[in-house]
Amino acid sequence: MKKGLAYILILTLVAALGFLLFARKSISSEKLINSASPSPSASAAVLPSAPETAAPAPTDTPAPETPEPNSPSPEPTALAPASHDYSSLPYVLREKVPILMYHQVMDGGTNSLYLSVSDFKSHLEYFSNAGITPITMRQLIMHWTENYPLPEKPIVLTFDDGYRSMYTTVFPLLKEKGWPATFYAVSGWTDGDSVLTKEMLAEMAAAGMEIGSHSVSHVDLEKSPAAVSKEQIIESKKQLEEYTGKPILSICYPSGRYNENTIAMVKEAGYVSAVTTKYGFASLSQGQFSLFRVRISQGQGGVALKSMLAPLGY
Ligand SMILES: [Zn+2]
Repeated sequence: MKKGLAYILILTLVAALGFLLFARKSISSEKLINSASPSPSASAAVLPSAPETAAPAPTDTPAPETPEPNSPSPEPTALAPASHDYSSLPYVLREKVPILMYHQVMDGGTNSLYLSVSDFKSHLEYFSNAGITPITMRQLIMHWTENYPLPEKPIVLTFDDGYRSMYTTVFPLLKEKGWPATFYAVSGWTDGDSVLTKEMLAEMAAAGMEIGSHSVSHVDLEKSPAAVSKEQIIESKKQLEEYTGKPILSICYPSGRYNENTIAMVKEAGYVSAVTTKYGFASLSQGQFSLFRVRISQGQGGVALKSMLAPLGY
């Protein structure tokens, strides 16, 4: 009689314990499911059981997994060879950075868009002597938005329109120095002797040059019907990505024409920077989709450039 009662008691206890354990388990997995959706920081807060996998001590570095929606954020190393990677440097904010705007680099030019080869060479000599380091647009944006370190006296060399001289003259000279640049190509202009072919674009991208978009056919992105502008912004990105096998994240407005709608479209398409033809040193306060540049015109060699950059102490 007593034995039977003891059995029943033990059985009840075991059952109660089992139920308790089961209930706890299902609650915590529910928490996991609920917290998986919103943000990584929320899930870290709800799950005290996994401190070792949660974010380390809070630092100034923003989490890399929370960029703006639609903006792909590839590995920093995916954009350039190791020689162009500065991620191991200490972070020092470079508030104002010159973005130079070049067009043709060729002797015997007929208008102000042409810079002679010797003038271009004198720019590179000046950079070497003054400790100025060319970086890409992508690196500049990463510096401002993801705390990516930059060397002292950074500069961005940008080349508009995808002329053939980019491949025959500029590319070899930059390779010699081990420096990258950003080339804005018109994705529909890849046939003929005066432009960069798809193969040239691919070769330059593979060597660490950044290829950016300059639309499909150099249209006015401000005055064109919205559907046309949108198509040009999206299609040029797609086509250049096809040619180069690299993400295209930078765009340059043809003839510097854009408005608020253009900016919205460019953002939505997944670009992370856009440059204008407004004169000045670039800073994030201008907005990362309306950055100023320093125009280079015919006859401006290294000495002229040095005085243009003098306000920055370059
Ligand atoms: Zn142009």
